Amino acid sequence: MPAKIPATVITGFLGSGKTTMIRHMLDNANGRRIALIINEFGETGVDGGLLDGCCAPGDIIELNNGCICCTVADDFLPTMEKLLAREPRPDHIVIETSGLALPQPLVRAFAWPGIATKVTVDGVVTVVDGKAVAEGRFAENEDAVEAQREADDSLDHETPLSELFEDQIACADMIVLNKTDLLAQGEAEEVATRLLAEARPGARILKAHKGALPLDVLLGINAAAESDMDSRAAPHHDSEEEDHHDHDEFESFVLDLPEIADVPALTARLQQAIEAHDILRLKGFVAVAGKPMRLTVQAAGPRIESYFDRPWATAPRQSRLVVIGEAGLDRSAIEAAILG
Ligand SMILES: [Zn+2]
Repeated sequence: MPAKIPATVITGFLGSGKTTMIRHMLDNANGRRIALIINEFGETGVDGGLLDGCCAPGDIIELNNGCICCTVADDFLPTMEKLLAREPRPDHIVIETSGLALPQPLVRAFAWPGIATKVTVDGVVTVVDGKAVAEGRFAENEDAVEAQREADDSLDHETPLSELFEDQIACADMIVLNKTDLLAQGEAEEVATRLLAEARPGARILKAHKGALPLDVLLGINAAAESDMDSRAAPHHDSEEEDHHDHDEFESFVLDLPEIADVPALTARLQQAIEAHDILRLKGFVAVAGKPMRLTVQAAGPRIESYFDRPWATAPRQSRLVVIGEAGLDRSAIEAAILG
């Protein structure tokens, strides 16, 4: 089993300087192959040209369908799987989240089946607009951040900016206090102290100008953040917030099937089960009578793909599907629906 690919999650509001920091990282990669997943959208997205020519073709993927934490199952996980299937594998994956995304559900997704064995969250880096925070705001242009919220149909949390900010700080392994060139020395220190008091134990803070920080400082934190989620929740989630974040909790189970004879009939049953039980993802291999190849089945939401990928050869002809959904899946009803 090859070593897990480290992934760095970069959060921070629109205008905090995430993209400029990433550009600096890529320009100083020294031959390290970095793949990028970008969820920032709105006026200063990739379209702005900031990342033109930075990466090999295919190494940069934009997720433009809305907030990454709200579309984690439909968008982010299939994208990761595609990225992980490419050869040669990237040395490091950098994920720039939308400033509106809650980092916790995204990091938690790295514990999902199919991802957990291949990637680990090297660290969560939160970029903060030091000048705005020193002046009592969260972003240089809070209206632009709000406009981004309004433009996103998929957003299913109405978290206020103050709570998003707390979440980003609480989840961080490293806080980059950007735009400190615009602050007096004492001011920067004061903001840093305030942020560190809200951060998790062991989080570090770095002052930066235009995100210019050495790659070896930003990458290689080795946090394995996905296995350490308890320490990464902002305090407000303990109480009344809980209800709004039910969609962050997922569960999965494995379903063993006998060899099947009729692929279209199985697909129809899967389709019905997915629709009736809000299954988010379904994937696995199926043994088909008379076929030496195994049938790969994957579904993201209502879309089901199936194809014969390779011979079973000496592996046991065992049909097995992983079913993933929000917490509270009715396992026995799903089993009955799929087994027919
Ligand atoms: Zn979201």
